[in-house]
Parts: sequence; structure tokens; C-alpha cells
Amino acid sequence: GKGAAMVTAVAYRLATQQAERQRVLDTLRLSREQLLEVKRRMGEEMSRGLAKETHPGASVRMLPTYVRSTPDGTEHGDFLALDLGGTNFRVLLVRVRGGKRRNVEMHNKIYAIPQEAMHGTGEELFDHIVHCIADFLEYMGMKGASLPLGFTFSFPCRQNKLDQGILLKWTKGFKASGCEGEDVVLLLKDAIQRREEFDLDVVAVVNDTVGTMMTCGYEDPHCEVGLIVGTGTNACYMEEMRNVETVEGEEGRMCINMEWGAFGDLGELDDFCTEFDRAVDERSTNPGKQRYEKMISGMYLGEIVRNVLLDFTAKGLLFRGRLSERLKTRGIFETRFLSQIESDRLALRQVRSILQHLGLTSSTCDDSILVKEVCSVVSHRAAQLCAAGLAAVVDRIRQNRHLPELRITVGVDGTLYKLHPHFSSIMLDTVRDLAPQCKVTFLQSEDGSGKGAALITAVACRIRDAGPH
Ligand code: BGC
Ligand code: MG
Repeated sequence: GKGAAMVTAVAYRLATQQAERQRVLDTLRLSREQLLEVKRRMGEEMSRGLAKETHPGASVRMLPTYVRSTPDGTEHGDFLALDLGGTNFRVLLVRVRGGKRRNVEMHNKIYAIPQEAMHGTGEELFDHIVHCIADFLEYMGMKGASLPLGFTFSFPCRQNKLDQGILLKWTKGFKASGCEGEDVVLLLKDAIQRREEFDLDVVAVVNDTVGTMMTCGYEDPHCEVGLIVGTGTNACYMEEMRNVETVEGEEGRMCINMEWGAFGDLGELDDFCTEFDRAVDERSTNPGKQRYEKMISGMYLGEIVRNVLLDFTAKGLLFRGRLSERLKTRGIFETRFLSQIESDRLALRQVRSILQHLGLTSSTCDDSILVKEVCSVVSHRAAQLCAAGLAAVVDRIRQNRHLPELRITVGVDGTLYKLHPHFSSIMLDTVRDLAPQCKVTFLQSEDGSGKGAALITAVACRIRDAGPH
């Protein structure tokens, strides 16, 4: 009768809705073959970035860092470090003690970078940084002190020596004018001079990946890769000098800052991208750039999730089809919310209260289940894509050394890696699967970017003080 027909119609509608949800989520799932293809293309771009002829056009820039030696435990002294480009801006005082009682002691203070400083002129940004250094020195009771300084500056920089860093392009939402193409050491020195209060000896510009590798290398000599999965993502590793065609010399190794976030900027990821990735990219401060980073790192995952939720809601598959202003607001899903939503210990009721806290009040229990599934599909893909890139790196190191098997440690840092309940284990499983000849261990760094900059500065000072041979 009529009732039965209605039941059938409802059942049919529910089934098609469910099919549509899964169809959309499937576009965000990658097969093993696809991941192996990502690995292969990453390997190819690495070679292109290293070779002199193809370097200028490569998406993965493979930037030399002039870091060759790792700490040998004899370095010592007091150093200042700056850490710009992660979740927080920090100034640090690092005391390095060498010899038998070797250890590293740190004091640091976190400062906010106001929106005006990020989006104003370079002068304003660097004046603000120097203002923070002055405040820190006063806070530490070291006003007027002149110390060697290591600058962790986590953006792509061309280096021709350790104490130089020409900013190629801002990433992660920074856009202060007049900095791209400039040496950030000079920008910093100019700002210090404008203030006329203290003098600093800028010894090293360090990418956060390199700082992380060095910090972990202080404890584990097998650590020859540094990885960041935080606001942004990137990796560095020790490459054979004979392969680094952009730097003179054939002997030994040099740490290469890959800048892998830009992988995909030549279209290498187009066949794996979804409409949601394209939407996130188009509305970012740097459209068309950092495409791999935008599929992996903390600054963007929440935005991918939000775009999927928008699509579901517009199709009437979520939030009773009601598009709230909140859901239309960029940036509401921070990494910590994603991490909370995906926590196994969390009851659905709590997912719902997180959604309510975000202002998404019309949610039902089914909505909570679906939101959690969207978060998990998006972060799963991120961890797997990251693992595919890493598989290319470790396999390259293995081949460089003509080894059937390689034991290697990856020093890793970043809010997404550290806070997310599943990211690290998915990444580990996937990298082991995609690079079976490498025995990869992850070592979480304790404050790699700050400590690492100080260690690199300490090594440079040790070598400099030893004088020319
Ligand atoms: C930057 C890298 C940095 C990474 C992680 C990227 O956006 O280009 O230099 O290492 O973020 O902080
Ligand atoms: Mg950092």
C-alpha cells in the first residue's frame, strides 16, 4: 500500500545519500599503487632539484644548507636562538655544555606575531622581532649582552653560506612585503641597528627541519633525516656532495633542505587532488603554491575538512542541510580540534560538544559520526602522502650508499605529528610498507628548531674559533 511505498522511498533516499557520502569520501582515499606513484614522482623531483640543469625549474628546490658536520660534543657556550615560522615565535637562550657533562639547557619566551606584523612591511616585522629580543634580554637580566645568534627561519631560503638566507617565497600565510629576494640576516641586522641598543653576531640561518635533524643527531648518530609536520611540512636529509651539483666539491655530505611542500606545484599531484584541495588552494594567500603542503599540514587539514562538510551540507547530507555562517567561516577547524575529534577515548557526545563549541549547533548524533569520519579520511590521506614522500627520501639515501638495507632514524617535530592521535602510526606503517628495504625509526625531537639552531651555531663557532688550518 501507500505506507509501504513511502517506507521504500525513504529507504531508497537514505541509501542514495549514504552512497553519495561514500563516493565523495572515496575521492579522498589513495590506493597503494597511487602512493607508490607519489613516491616515484617525489624521487624524480629530488633528482631534478639537485642537478644543475634542471634545478631552476624543479618544484622541489633541494636547497643546500651548508651544514656538513654534526655536533661532536665538544661545543660549548651561550647562544641566542630565534624561532620564526612555526606555531609560535620564540626567543631562546641556549647554554651548551661540552665534554663529559655535556648537556643543553634552554630558556625561552613565546611572543605573538600580530597580524599587522605578518601582513605589513618587512621593516615592521623585523622591528617587532628585535623588540622581542630586547624584551627577552631584559627578562633574562642580560640587557646589552652580545651573543652569537642562530636564526631558525622556517621558510624556503637560498643559502650560499651558513649565515645567509635569501627568502625565496613566503609560505604558511606570511606575506610581509619587501622580504622576498632579500637576505633575512641583513633584514635582521638592519633592524638591530635601527634600535641602537645591542649588537648580535648572526652566525647561522637554519630551517626548522635542519634544527630538528641536528637535535636528534646529538642523541642518535643514525639520525640523518629531519621532518616537520606542523603548521607547514618539509624534510631535510644528508645528501652526497657529488650529487649536490649546485655546490662545488665532491667530498662528504651536506644537509639538503628539500622544501618538499612545493611538490605538486608543477601539476605532479593534479591526478590525486580533489575539488576540496582546489578550493583550499584557491582561497589561500599563495594560490598554486605549496600544493603538497596543503594536502598534509596542520594549517590546511581543517580547511579541507570544512570544505567537505560544506559540500555535504549543501547536498542535504549533513546538519539537516542548514549552511550556518560559522561553517562558512575560514579557519574554524584548528589542528587541536581535529586531534580531539579523532581521539579514540572521546564519546560521540563529546564530538558533538566540540562541534557545538565551534558554533555548529544543529548537529545530531549521525552528524557527529560523519564529521569524525571526514576528519579521519582527511588526516589518513595526509599521513600516507607524507609517508610516500619520506619513502622516496630514505630509499634515495639507501641507493646513494649502495646498500641492500638501510637503518635510519628520522628526527621529527611539529604540532600535527605530536598532537594527532593517529597521524604518527599511520605514517610509520605506510613508510615501512612503501620502503621495505629501509628500517625507519622515528625520534621525536624535544624542541628541535630552537635547540638545533643553537647547536648549529655552536658547531660553527667551534670551527671558526679553531681558526683556519
Ligand atoms: C616552509 C619550510 C618549513 C616548513 C615547516 C614550509 O611552509 O616552506 O621551510 O620547513 O613549512 O615549518
Ligand atoms: Mg617549530
